[in-house]
Amino acid sequence: MRLSHSLIPTLKEIPAEAQISSHRLMLRAGLVRQMASGIYAWLPAGLRVLQNIETIVRAEQDAAGAQELLMPTIQSADLWRESGRYDAYGKEMLRITDRHERELLFGPTNEEMITAIMRDSVKSYRDLPQMLYHIQWKFRDEVRPRFGVLRGREFLMKDAYSFDLDYAGALLSYKKMLLAYMRTFQRLGVSAIPMRADTGQIGGDLSHEFHILASTGESGVFYDAAFETGDAFAASDLETFYAACTTTYAATDEKHDLEAWAKVPDERKREGRGIEVGQIFYFGKKYSETMGFAVTGPDGARIFPEMGSYGIGVSRLVGAIIEASHDEAGIIWPDAVAPFRAAILNLRQGDAATDAICESLHQTFGPACLYDDRTERAGVKFAEADLLGHPWQIIVGPRGAAAGTVELKRRATGARLELSVTDAVAKVPA
Ligand code: ATP
Ligand code: MG
Repeated sequence: MRLSHSLIPTLKEIPAEAQISSHRLMLRAGLVRQMASGIYAWLPAGLRVLQNIETIVRAEQDAAGAQELLMPTIQSADLWRESGRYDAYGKEMLRITDRHERELLFGPTNEEMITAIMRDSVKSYRDLPQMLYHIQWKFRDEVRPRFGVLRGREFLMKDAYSFDLDYAGALLSYKKMLLAYMRTFQRLGVSAIPMRADTGQIGGDLSHEFHILASTGESGVFYDAAFETGDAFAASDLETFYAACTTTYAATDEKHDLEAWAKVPDERKREGRGIEVGQIFYFGKKYSETMGFAVTGPDGARIFPEMGSYGIGVSRLVGAIIEASHDEAGIIWPDAVAPFRAAILNLRQGDAATDAICESLHQTFGPACLYDDRTERAGVKFAEADLLGHPWQIIVGPRGAAAGTVELKRRATGARLELSVTDAVAKVPA
């Protein structure tokens, strides 16, 4: 993509309304714009990040055996009356009335809807277990939308739902999802710690939240240093992995257990703040019973399936990753989520040799990279490339171009190498 004809409206000034780094950087790098309180438009570069995250989340959900479907954003109030949550949900629910005075709502989550869909179609124990997910916009009328996309009102969530015949099956689904989540975060290039958590609105008795460590996080977190090395939980089988993840101490302040904490060796005690990027719940028959979803068992008896639900904040992750990975100059994208794999910086637009090299690089990489073809000063191009956080910068200046070389800069380390064009291309991962 050519920057000269791209909508990447960067800002030099620090936006006054943004209190934390990720929010400031998302506005300054032209990733999003606020359209109403807690409601954002995703501009082209921001949307690319959101889509990269979605792709990884989707791949790991599929690998865990979940089936993708797409449920609507608008739901009927009657559906929520069945579970008793229509009144219980309170002011966070955006309630809508249509032209026929029918009560609707903008979905904050989908337990009721997925249970109704299953109730309609699944009648026999032979059809279970099943796991389903979708990636869809949610609306929660938060009291205080803040920190940009970290706490929006409209936000993108991946929510999955499991249906099993018994507790053992439900627990297995829960474990599979916990593993899928850890893999997802690892592939995204961030480390997230699974923490024992309260179940809140959803109900139930087993739950973990996944937190990315950041000083600006809203939750206080306590954890064993064993979680700091990403490979500490690279166990090969599911049971060992789950046991390691869940017996190593990690809890949010709401669930902090002083007795268990005392048993963690002092040198391994870590306290900090975290951003919740996902949460998983096991809640048994809460929805299947209240909404009357039963299947016929082998002996003809009715079985109410055991359920769990599993959320990842896809849009919140964009902010959380930036919060965990930036410096004074700007964003430092992990390779897997970066809007562009690399930026080509033409330091002398109009110089025949630099233009030729840049054009050929632009051809080679195609839309996966951003070509800064503007007639701007070199300093401006450097600053914007750092702000946007491209993992690699290929810097093409007239002196190197005459000799057939370019400079390759790694954003994360600042390391620069002078290389031939071919060697530079080979170093940027596909
Ligand atoms: P929080 O405690 O931060 O309000 P929650 O526990 O109410 O979140 P869940 O119902 O667990 O949220 O939703 C699953 C995931 O959706 C959360 O882990 C979070 O990543 C994301 N999420 C929830 N609320 C928001 C929001 N207002 N803006 C952006 N993402 C959100
Ligand atoms: Mg939660």
